[in-house]
Amino acid sequence: MSGALTLSKYSIGVGDRFARQGKAQMRACQMADEHGVEVIPVWNKSNREHKIIGSTPAATRAAADEAVKALGWTKPYYVDADHINLATVDRFTESCDFFTIDVADLIGRPCEEQALQSFLSAHSELLGELRVPGVAQAFRINRGFIEQVGRKYLAAVQEAGRIYRRIEDQKGRGRFITEVSMDETDSPQTPAELLVILVAVAGERIPIQTLAPKFTGRFDKGVDYAGDMGKFSEGFSDDVAVIAYAVRRYALAGNLKLSVHSGSDKFSLYGPIHSVLEKFDAGVHLKTAGTTWLEELIGLAEAGGAGLQLAKEVYAQAFAQRQDLCAPYAAVINIDPACLPAPELAARWSAEQFVAALRHDPACPAYNPSFRQLLHVGFKVAAGMGDRYLDLLAANETSITKNVTENLFARHIKPVFIG
Ligand SMILES: [Zn+2]
Repeated sequence: MSGALTLSKYSIGVGDRFARQGKAQMRACQMADEHGVEVIPVWNKSNREHKIIGSTPAATRAAADEAVKALGWTKPYYVDADHINLATVDRFTESCDFFTIDVADLIGRPCEEQALQSFLSAHSELLGELRVPGVAQAFRINRGFIEQVGRKYLAAVQEAGRIYRRIEDQKGRGRFITEVSMDETDSPQTPAELLVILVAVAGERIPIQTLAPKFTGRFDKGVDYAGDMGKFSEGFSDDVAVIAYAVRRYALAGNLKLSVHSGSDKFSLYGPIHSVLEKFDAGVHLKTAGTTWLEELIGLAEAGGAGLQLAKEVYAQAFAQRQDLCAPYAAVINIDPACLPAPELAARWSAEQFVAALRHDPACPAYNPSFRQLLHVGFKVAAGMGDRYLDLLAANETSITKNVTENLFARHIKPVFIG
């Protein structure tokens, strides 16, 4: 339909815990524009994050609007209700125009036998040897395989349909962008499974523009990818090919693309991702957010004085509360307790030492991924400091802005989207 919101080829999920770095992040997209590459910003914040901080979707919307206005951005931008479900979606409806429908919890939930049987009989075209252009090996799909994938994913896709229709009832068709996420689950989806899932999504008439599968390997928060690079590259390439095939064959949205969650700091993947995008002339949505909170801390520490002192306090408290802080993120962090410096030791560090341990520079011998990951989940500590933290952010804006913009542009946008 005309006028329906359509997400561009390249987009980046941005956002920061305390909604103070909107302009610094917006600037990074503007720099991409200056390099001739359009990267659309999408402010995202999950319900989990709002609850930990005590923030609201309306505040995220206000911060995004303000940043866009201040920098004179005239291209589209969106505010993403990240990882919502039927129970949490309503508080986001008004402020958001991008919805990440998270149905990972329903994966493996039994679906109605009749729905499964009619899915099976409706999709005999999938059976046999199926060649997807760009995928080296033909898929060999039999009825048993479709049934198995249906049993695992059909209930989840049906739930996504219910959530989608609930949003559509309130906002109107074409007035928001829809993503479906299945990343927060145990096992990655294979390209053949992805195809069956997309067929089911098309059947539910969910006009998804982005899909977040679970990829092979570990996507820990704030640190590089850990896993088999070759397997990732091949799987990512096959997923992109499957999407292009499904778009043509099942009348899904022409701009449908992959969404990479926990996408910040996966430096070793950005080269391979960029190559695949070039090969298929495909787009991608890269979700980052937590990385900006760490740049805030780096900016504070680098400024020295009260900023450095506060950064050290955040670490000391995060260290003391590490069990509680890590619990909600257990599946997506990998901290070696033996590598965490004692807070008494960190308290004596210079600004350079603190920054060197925290900044994600794999080539720097002082870079400490465990220290970085603990601080990544430690934003609750800063939230508890209230105005004291926010006032120091304002006082050290120059140092923080420089780090936030540089990190987002040079370490993320450039290698993924510009190359
Ligand atoms: Zn996610």
